[in-house]
Amino acid sequence: MKPFLTLLIVLSIITAAQSQTFDRFFENKTLRVDYFHTGTASKELVGLDQAYEEGVWAGSRKNLIDTLNRGKYLVKIFDTETNQLIYSRGFSSIYGEWETTQEAQDEKVRSFHESVLVPFPKKSVQVVLAKRDKWMHFQDIFSTVIDPDSRFVNREKRGRSFKIINLLENGLPHKKVDFLLLGDGYTENEMGKFRKDAERWKDVILRTSPFKENAGKLNIRAIEVISEDSGIDEPRKNLWRNTALGTSYNSFDSPRYVLTYENRAMRDIAAAAPYDFIYIMTNAKRYGGGGIYQLYATGMTGVENPDFEWHLEYMITHEFGHSFAGLGDEYYSSSISYLDFYPSGVEPWEANVTALLDPAALKWKPFVEESTPLPTAWSKVFHDSLEAVRRTWDRSKPGYYEKWAKLRAQQLAAMAATDFYGKVGAFEGAGYSANGLYRPAIDCRMFSLSLLPYDPVCSAAIEQMIKFYAE
Ligand SMILES: [Zn+2]
Repeated sequence: MKPFLTLLIVLSIITAAQSQTFDRFFENKTLRVDYFHTGTASKELVGLDQAYEEGVWAGSRKNLIDTLNRGKYLVKIFDTETNQLIYSRGFSSIYGEWETTQEAQDEKVRSFHESVLVPFPKKSVQVVLAKRDKWMHFQDIFSTVIDPDSRFVNREKRGRSFKIINLLENGLPHKKVDFLLLGDGYTENEMGKFRKDAERWKDVILRTSPFKENAGKLNIRAIEVISEDSGIDEPRKNLWRNTALGTSYNSFDSPRYVLTYENRAMRDIAAAAPYDFIYIMTNAKRYGGGGIYQLYATGMTGVENPDFEWHLEYMITHEFGHSFAGLGDEYYSSSISYLDFYPSGVEPWEANVTALLDPAALKWKPFVEESTPLPTAWSKVFHDSLEAVRRTWDRSKPGYYEKWAKLRAQQLAAMAATDFYGKVGAFEGAGYSANGLYRPAIDCRMFSLSLLPYDPVCSAAIEQMIKFYAE
């Protein structure tokens, strides 16, 4: 037999075996498991809330076991009869970030509501949550058995009254990456604006590489979510709006971090459409957003100064880099609330941040030319001297972004004059740390507030994710 033909037959046998695995263990529905995640920086407890039967399974039927190894947590599903691992997925959570804040270090106990979505099992399964220890190994922290036929699985139909807009339809949910747009802080009268904002989101994604080249593997849907009030909460300004999803500025008391803690409300609404990844568009103009791997991303849909309309495009793609591909922040000079986000001496799990503990084993080595030294020199001293100036300015004052643009032009010129501009290496300064953490390129959509493309390492991490969900 010709080798090519043999390969084809082997490949089709593997594919058949994988879809048999899905059909053997799962139905084309979704099991949502809700729980409370409680604790402090030093202790944590997971308590089951409720299990739900939801609509069709939007994830891959082929790639059931997570091979990407991203996220701080991991959900594992075992068939209870055979103890076989039949599904796994890495993810991150608000709790996982919160436990690195001062509040958690001060041993103040808080609870966050979370969900994991897995394919709906045909028989009893063991659901296990695991968390990375300081050596990055997953250790089990919670386990429960769920019988899908029992009365302990809630089968109410949720989200039936919502109107769904199909912005891009390329095929069945399990064969495509399914993006779901939810609006927050849009009143009934503002649904026209929401539809326009959703169209812009789609346009931005479809003109950004590598989404652009993979457009045929994506579905994009939006749900028309009506809020009582227009806008979202701004606690530091004592502005409170009653919105459907509960998004708010000042998450972790940080000025521009936008999250919602109302996970159950969000999941109940999202259940109206099949989805793999959620983006929450806030009906707000002040700069702010957020993104957590496999949870959701958020971002404002307006700007205070029309000269900075491009901030919207930056926000959509930067925050989606976090929530979709688990990319880390490459910047290190902004104010953040984390104390010990990346413990020293440990290699981060993010594809685009490294501690460079062993340059010979650099995880993005295939992207590095032999002549590029590791670590890689860049205009860091000059860059940091200007950042020190910027940090003395008040970002909430008018004129801030205009002043920053001038300063940034100087930084860019200095970068462009370095030997390894445009190359992949290991440039010091990443993950909120000026020292000891390195990023793949001198600049990237995950480093500076700019419309520069994702660097080649970030781009590859996004493509891997698209492929994983669209097979
Ligand atoms: Zn970021």
